[in-house]
Amino acid sequence: MKERPLLLLLNPPSPPGVVANREGSGGMGVVSQDGFYYPPQTIAYAAALFRWAKWYIRVVDAVAYKMDAAATLRSVTAAKPDVVAIFTAAPFVEADFAWARDLEFPYFFFGPALAYLLPKLTDLPQRPPLLLGDPLAGIVPAAEALLGGSKAPGLWWPVQSQPPEPLSQRSLASLPRPAWKYMPTSRYRFLSLYAGRGCDDHCRWCPYRLGQGCRHDQRPPEAVAAELSWLFQTFHKERHIFRDAVFAADRDWVFHFLEELSSYPPVPWECESRPEHFTPKLLVRMHALGCQQVKFGLESASGELLARWGRLSSPDEIDLYLEKVRMDVLTCRQLRMPCRLFVMTGLPGETEDDLAKTDAFLEILAAPYISVKRFHRYPGVEPLPGEVLPPERLVYWEKRLAGRAQPFPVVSRGRRWSDRLRRRYSRLRVRLGL
Ligand code: SF4
Repeated sequence: MKERPLLLLLNPPSPPGVVANREGSGGMGVVSQDGFYYPPQTIAYAAALFRWAKWYIRVVDAVAYKMDAAATLRSVTAAKPDVVAIFTAAPFVEADFAWARDLEFPYFFFGPALAYLLPKLTDLPQRPPLLLGDPLAGIVPAAEALLGGSKAPGLWWPVQSQPPEPLSQRSLASLPRPAWKYMPTSRYRFLSLYAGRGCDDHCRWCPYRLGQGCRHDQRPPEAVAAELSWLFQTFHKERHIFRDAVFAADRDWVFHFLEELSSYPPVPWECESRPEHFTPKLLVRMHALGCQQVKFGLESASGELLARWGRLSSPDEIDLYLEKVRMDVLTCRQLRMPCRLFVMTGLPGETEDDLAKTDAFLEILAAPYISVKRFHRYPGVEPLPGEVLPPERLVYWEKRLAGRAQPFPVVSRGRRWSDRLRRRYSRLRVRLGL
């Protein structure tokens, strides 16, 4: 093996007409119709691990550069890598495998979705080498094994009929900071980071538990505050998005993080969590410390539906749940901090009555932004009994629910000025520990 081989990390081209958001849904992947995609943070982490291992690194993000299949192949060939590591996700596996067949270099695929596609992959002719499980737990040994033709944990060679045990989630605390310097950051509208990953809850529709793990692994607050500030001061983006699905699951952790953040110059950031995780006091502090948007999943206002899908333990919890959502939205409106509410449609067993309840709730809620998402059953999500409403009814309800958003009215310069003063005052209180 060369002393310092060259590793090329690749985000392959999008299929024609859509954008491949391979990082979306906890790394399980989303076909983006509107062009939105997350910067491939998994690749930035992998680059940091290869830098630790003293490899030469090159990254080709074909999605960011809108490269087609031929242009991507030319770019990879020109780099003459020793190994190519290719990021993939559930909706793109076949297209990505087909594209890679023209490569002249040793290559393997990685991505958390692969471990959930085993039934489909086992009998696949021309199956390429695959790294199963959390890529961050074994991507460097897998690349070394590819060079030497040897075995590595989680690496499934085409000659092996049975897959190895997928790699389990690596603790985030043991990872270096993502090496964004290798990525085309000027092409990204924002950058992202983890405060933690995984979730202890049991919503049965959820791809995040598959891609990020079913245990909430949280990083030390000091390290997260330092990384957020470093991102801002190094790359100067106006948006930084936490990729955690349950950022505020541990409220004490968030208060500690905000305290740490108060010792750095102001940084803009956004996060997502369950509605029950926020309190008015927490939202006020988050806003004072640079939080520019919060997202939370209402999903439905039907207690029966949410209990059946594991979001609530019992339908009786629905009143408290909706009260929490109301308080969150009211606090965000008072702070004029944008909040985006997610609503889900198309769950098996969801009725017109369930959707009417959600609609009635949204009508009086006045949420500034509402995103309505159709349920998609990812590989690894158990099937649940129940009919799905016909597509034309779902389209009707989706338009109606999305139309319940009530964005903030335009405000005067005086109001903006007083908002800014109030934020500075709150920030000062956090710094003084009041
Ligand atoms: S709380 Fe969110 S991340 Fe956790 S299981 Fe439910 S939907 Fe998934």
